Amino acid sequence: VAKNNGRNRYSYFTASMQAHAQNRMRLSNDLHLALPGQQFELYYQPIVELATGQVHKAEALLRWQHPTRGMIPPDNFIPLAEETGLIVDIGNWVFYEAARQVKRLQSLHHASFQISINKSPVQFHNETHGHEAWISFLLMNDLPRQSIVVEITEGLLMHTDESISAQLLGFRDAGVQVALDDFGTGYSSLSYLKKFDIDYLKIDRIFVRNLSRNSSDMALCEAIVMMAHKLDIKVIAEGIETEEQRELLQQIGCDFGQGYLFSPPLPAPAFEAYLRP
Ligand code: C2E
Ligand code: MG
Ligand code: MG
Ligand code: MG
Repeated sequence: VAKNNGRNRYSYFTASMQAHAQNRMRLSNDLHLALPGQQFELYYQPIVELATGQVHKAEALLRWQHPTRGMIPPDNFIPLAEETGLIVDIGNWVFYEAARQVKRLQSLHHASFQISINKSPVQFHNETHGHEAWISFLLMNDLPRQSIVVEITEGLLMHTDESISAQLLGFRDAGVQVALDDFGTGYSSLSYLKKFDIDYLKIDRIFVRNLSRNSSDMALCEAIVMMAHKLDIKVIAEGIETEEQRELLQQIGCDFGQGYLFSPPLPAPAFEAYLRP
């Protein structure tokens, strides 16, 4: 009986692994068609200045409208796009789409509106001069360099080589701002914050989730804000869902906030409606 059980479990396991592999294969085939098929869309989530409530920034978040499976969230396809290298073309599409949209928002809403986009470490590794193309695009289209903020992760800073350094310093020298995303979940050395002249720290939502007065997360957030401000870095808190979290973060001097309390990520027309007074 034990043997039978073992065998059944074994065959069940391989069957499910095979299904998983097949599913990935299909998804990867479909992902190749997504860009030519115009199946991607950018959603925009407001980034709110906590002291004033002003919204002069947003984060662009990628959505894949799959022809039969419906909306697929980025966590389910970005890793695949990274493994296949498709993230380079997808990431460039994200940049050009965000640049087009930020130009619109600057004329409709506020002249110094900024949109931040997420740039994968794979983009930095696979397209070592990608930043130059972006910078000249901004220049050629009369977009202020601060129009686009590039969000990177601590993982990128952990394995910096000559080329990564050159790209980050290239953004800095051109005046394109850089934000360090999901701060506190990785292992980046604090000295990189100064070296690469990081402009924004985004406190990961795991530190915001259980925020309450006198909690250890409160102490952590406060320490992050103090350190960042000493280095002339602005702080954005992610995942603000309650008024209490907003208030506590504002009290400790956190500059900006992002989260469902203000708005979920929205398609461009809905986001423009959100901005209208
Ligand atoms: P991220 O850059 O840290 O983006 C923030 C994520 O938190 C978004 O998930 C957003 O919808 C979610 N979020 C915002 N406010 C709240 C809140 O109050 N509560 C909770 N529980 N979640 C909130 P989303 O859109 O599913 O994106 C997930 C991740 O996928 C992003 O994390 C980013 O790492 C990646 N991603 C999204 N778009 C792109 C892209 O264009 N390129 C690359 N390379 N990665 C992207
Ligand atoms: Mg981000
Ligand atoms: Mg984040
Ligand atoms: Mg800077």
